[in-house]
Parts: sequence; C-alpha cells; structure tokens
Amino acid sequence: MIGDTIAAVSTPPGKGGVALLRVSGPGTLQVLGAVFRTGAGKALSDPEPRRAYYGTIRTPGEEEMIDDGIAVFYPAPHSFTGEDVAEITCHGGVLVTRTVLCALLCAGARQAEAGEVTRRAFLNGKLRLSEAEALGTLLDAATEQQRRLARSGLNGNLSRAVQALYDRLCTVLASIYAKIDYPDEDLADLSGAQIRTMLSEVLCDVQRLGATWQTGRAIAEGIPTVICGAANAGKSSLYNRLVGYDAAIVTDIAGTTRDVLQESAVVGELLLRLCDTAGIRQTEDAVERLGVERSLRAIEEAELILCVFDASRPLDAEDEAVLKKLAGASGKKAIAVWNKADLPRAVNAALPQGLFAREYTISAATGQGLAALEKGLEGLYLDGGCAPQDGILTNARQYAAAQKAKEAVQSAVAALQSGMTQDIAGMDLELALSALSEVDARGVSADITDAIFHRFCVGK
Ligand code: GDP
Repeated sequence: MIGDTIAAVSTPPGKGGVALLRVSGPGTLQVLGAVFRTGAGKALSDPEPRRAYYGTIRTPGEEEMIDDGIAVFYPAPHSFTGEDVAEITCHGGVLVTRTVLCALLCAGARQAEAGEVTRRAFLNGKLRLSEAEALGTLLDAATEQQRRLARSGLNGNLSRAVQALYDRLCTVLASIYAKIDYPDEDLADLSGAQIRTMLSEVLCDVQRLGATWQTGRAIAEGIPTVICGAANAGKSSLYNRLVGYDAAIVTDIAGTTRDVLQESAVVGELLLRLCDTAGIRQTEDAVERLGVERSLRAIEEAELILCVFDASRPLDAEDEAVLKKLAGASGKKAIAVWNKADLPRAVNAALPQGLFAREYTISAATGQGLAALEKGLEGLYLDGGCAPQDGILTNARQYAAAQKAKEAVQSAVAALQSGMTQDIAGMDLELALSALSEVDARGVSADITDAIFHRFCVGK
C-alpha cells in the first residue's frame, strides 16, 4: 500500500563488506530518528538532505548499539522512489543486517515486498514502466550486450521514442477532431494531405520500432536454437565450441547424446539458447529412441536450426531423415553446417534448394570456419540492427503494444486512403495512442504491472 513506510535490505543476501538498507515513505524521518544516533549521540531526526552522517544504529528503546554506519536522507520528491527515503549502510554481516532491518521495523516501518521500492518509483512518476523493466534487465544482465541494452532503456531511449510517436499522433488526431467538431471554422492545423503524409511517416516509424524487437529479443532473451543432424556429424563438438567449454560428451560412438542439452551461448552480440540433440536415426535402444523423440520436439520448438552434416562422407539415410524433418518444419531459419573440413571432402550431393538460409563449412575439431559461422549467425538477426541510442523493444509485452499501435495506424491510413470519413481514422488513432501508452503503462492494467514488479527481489 502506498502511503505507509517500508524498509528493506537493498544489497544481496549474504556476507559482504557493507550492506545497504532503504526506508521509504512518509514516516522515514521518524524511523531514522528512532534508530540512528549521530557521533555526538543525538537522534538523527532532522538531517540535512543528501548529507552522509556517521553514527550508531540501535533498536528503539534499547541502549546497546547494533552496529555503526552511515545514514543519508533524501527528502521527497528528490529521491529514488519520489518519497522521503533514508539509506543506512552498516557492516555486511548476515546477522547484523537482519538485526538492523528488525530495528527499522520496530521503529514503525513495514518490510517491503519484492519490487515494492521500484514500484513506488514508478507510481510516483520517477521511473517509466519501460525504464523499470530495463532496470530489471540490468540487474539480471549476464552479457555486456544485455547491460548496454538495459542501460539504453534505463536512459529513457525507448520511452522517448514512444513519446515522440505519441505526440505526433496526438497532433494528427487534434486536427482531425477540430475538423469534425468545427467543420465551418478553420481550426485544424493540418490539411487532409498533410494528415495523410504525417500518418504514413508515423506508420513507417512504428514499423521500424516493431522491427527493433528482433535485435532486442536476440540480445535480451536469446534465440531458441537447436543443433541437429545425423549421429557423429559433430553436433556435440559444435555445441561445445559455441558454448565455450566441454558441456557435451564427444565420442565416435554413435548415439552418445541421448538427452537434449541446453545452455546459453553468446555469439558476438547474439545470445543463443542452444540445444544439442541426439542424432535422428532408427534405433532399437529404448533410451536413445526417447532421445530421438526429444530431438524432434526440440526442432519443432526452435526458431533457429543449425543442421550439421559430416562433409568427410557421402550423405546417407540418416541425413535424408534429417532433411525430411526440416522440410516439414516451416517458419524457421535453418543453417547448413558442413563439418570436418579438416578431412578430405567426400560429399556426393547438393542440399535441397531453398531449405537452408545459408551454408557454412567448418571444422569443430580445429575451429576452422567458426568465426565466419558466428558472424553469419549474428548478421542473420542483427544486421541493419539498432544503435544503442535508438529506442529498442526488449520484451514481448512492449512488442505486443507496438504491434497493436502499428495495426491501428495501418487501419487509419487505409481508412483515409479509401476515402472514409475522418472520424473512422480518428477512432483507429485513439486505439493507436492507447496501445503506445501501454509501453510505459499509462493505462496498463494493475495485473500487468504486478507481474512486472514481482520479478524484482525485495529491496529493489
Ligand atoms: P555428434 O554425435 O553429432 O554429437 O558428434 P560428436 O561431436 O560427438 O563427434 C563425433 C566424432 O566426430 C568424434 O569422434 C569427434 O571427435 C569427431 N569430430 C567432430 N568434429 C570433427 C571435425 O571437425 N573434424 C574431425 N576430424 N573430427 C570431428
């Protein structure tokens, strides 16, 4: 509930040099005064804003100090949450930190729920929703690219791009409504032709924004990718190369990989959610057969398929079975990887036309050709990609909102082109505005914001 005063440990649980606790809400000064005494022994009830005070921390009503530390007071609205906030730094022992938190609760604060601190920042207008999501991505970032992407969102680049589209649509809509409401007066800023031109431009930009999801997703979420192919083609060897360590067992015994292995692999700027699979072959071995079934399912669920062929031997029935499976899997990007380039080539047939977006020749054993494969994969998703200063969509929720906005603007453009009255286009544009406003949650339902903030941990 906004309005009460919350407290939480903001540093991760466990032992550290220091721990930081945050208090936020109207009772912050009272809580601070009750637990913190300055070096001179006075309760810190009237601190200077943003000044660091050294002092001691106590449970209210007790003389024995828990620890010494630093307190800083940030008065509303110039704080992270927009409310009065106090930050107390103590020594980072598990028990010390927990006891200081208990003292804050004794002084009248309530334990914050997961994500509640950030939620307050959002509700008080200190952080837009896409920025809050970017903060979550930043805290979870495991790759440099994810960090950069999250930083771009947190700097407000997506928010600004969406706001600019919103403002342009508002201008068009205002002109349309002026014409409809006051047909006899010359109130509209834009002529009919100008409205059509401006809407077409906005449509291009909304489409461009939607297209950034390809890059955003490739970096933030990763592309579901499967490595498939005949037994002993070198799937596990390629998997290990891409993952960067020996995650899968490599032997020349066919049928070694029986389960689907999964790891994330950073390929240039791209993140692959990579699966190594069992070869697809007829087998009497019950366990291997289950593995083959799982491989087939993994191919169905993947978006990118790296299909490995052994270039040192002619294509055989097992390769044919893989090709048949791929021919039936539509809507995926398939890449042919000719492996074992270090051995004499003995390929007897070309691959079927149109099945593979690209072909690469590599040696998973020596590493030859891998850089070109990685560059090619990266280009497949990130070519013509976005600069970090662009607004980039980084999750499915934002993408869905951008798509809705695109369809509504498309419909408005079509309505005007087919000579329908402007109020029809006006209704579409209202839908587009409402969809755009969802990106930063002006109008997003409480359920969705709940789902977003619960992903944060307590203290964030
Ligand atoms: P999988 O069954 O498709 O996963 O294939 P593996 O990765 O387990 O490899 C099968 C056999 O081929 C192993 O003996 C590997 O050492 C060997 N192998 C894999 N890649 C290469 C390569 O590029 N060159 C050569 N010469 N052997 C390879």
